[in-house]
Amino acid sequence: MFWNNHIETLSDDELAALQLKRLKWTIRQAEKVPFYRTQLREAGLHADDIRSLDDAGRLPFTRKQDLREGYPFGFFAVPLKQIVRIHTTSGTTGKPTVVGYTRQDLDNWAEMMARDLTMVGLSDDDVFQNALGYGLFTGGLGFHYGAEKIGMTVIPSATGNTKRQIEMIMDFGVTAINSTPSYGMRLAEVAEEMGVELDTLRVGIFGAEPWSDNMRKELEERLGITAYDSYGMSEMYGPGASFECEERNGLHFWHDSYLVEIIDPETGEVLGPGERGELVVTPLVKEAMPLIRYRTGDITMLMEDRCPCGRGQKIARIMGRSDDMLVIRGVNVFPSQIEHVLLSLPEVGEQFMVYIDRMHHLDEMNIEVEINRECFSGELKDLAKLQKRVAGALRDTLGLRTSVTLVEPGTLPRFEGKAKRVIDRRGEVW
Ligand code: ADP
Ligand code: ZN
Repeated sequence: MFWNNHIETLSDDELAALQLKRLKWTIRQAEKVPFYRTQLREAGLHADDIRSLDDAGRLPFTRKQDLREGYPFGFFAVPLKQIVRIHTTSGTTGKPTVVGYTRQDLDNWAEMMARDLTMVGLSDDDVFQNALGYGLFTGGLGFHYGAEKIGMTVIPSATGNTKRQIEMIMDFGVTAINSTPSYGMRLAEVAEEMGVELDTLRVGIFGAEPWSDNMRKELEERLGITAYDSYGMSEMYGPGASFECEERNGLHFWHDSYLVEIIDPETGEVLGPGERGELVVTPLVKEAMPLIRYRTGDITMLMEDRCPCGRGQKIARIMGRSDDMLVIRGVNVFPSQIEHVLLSLPEVGEQFMVYIDRMHHLDEMNIEVEINRECFSGELKDLAKLQKRVAGALRDTLGLRTSVTLVEPGTLPRFEGKAKRVIDRRGEVW
């Protein structure tokens, strides 16, 4: 199913021509921002110097730090009078940055969300519970307007009050739910505690943080849904920029609206399909806040294969942010890899916390993980065996010795929005 068949399936040539036209427009729009005027002057570049998409590689990068320095409105290319909405980032990695939208931007954003939701088979026949934060976080309102645009029956439940969320799913006959994967697990857990079946649910959309394929299996089984990955960030309007189709093998990017590159984060060199690196995005239709070659910090790659659904090139699921990557005694580890291993062991739950300390000049990683109820009431010697097994599985996959602590079910923190499972105490002075 397509929302906008024509634009979603442009031929390579049509797409390249459209991207080039829009890239030039974006550079002209960016020239209204003092930061970019200086940057482009220093690079000796003007919109007219961009003759092909390859020339994009000559443009300077924009970093999160630049946006922070522009706080609050330094990156707006239009007067505040034309800005009709403001959001901020979640501030996962530091001070939140501000993003602004013109009326046209809000229309563009809703249009992309409408494409996404239609792509996963949703329509005006569906009842949609939107369990993402409403407010400054882009997730709630972003999905809200897209879902209304395609005529879904939208329940703006936001997060929290989980028992009530479960009741609403049952009472309102909800068919599709949207949340962070961590909150999706919480919904499953509470439904199980209440002893209810969520019979009407068939689709789950999860995003805003990394989640592994084992987490997908878990969410699908426990909620009785098909789960789709949704990726975006405030700097690209919010959610909706990139989404899985029914193939669920990589995420489509809306290439008419974003120019996508993957670079080597160390050297800045542009990488080809199949090579993992940092995602760099130039939005092509953003009016209020144009950005040039924005370094997202997110790690992925362009996929080589064409998708049978007929839409454009996909990216692989996001492994995490480059600054999520933990370097433990020289070994690189993403928290999403730890999650993947833990979820492959049925005796332990999906709830875990990672603590990193430096002891006697060596990094030590301790993982606390909840075990399930049955194991908890089992024998102590079995627990000792289980602990060894968990540490062994982590060592095999991560190539790293870790210490594992098994904890009672229900004792680790639950998250309604983005989870924060890693506590790195190496910089702290004791
Ligand atoms: P912040 O950067 O402060 O968290 P945002 O709320 O804009 O602000 O979040 C965007 C970030 O969330 C992305 O850069 C990415 O790291 C993460 N993210 C969003 N969706 C996904 C997803 N589906 N998979 C992995 N990471 C995601
Ligand atoms: Zn597809």
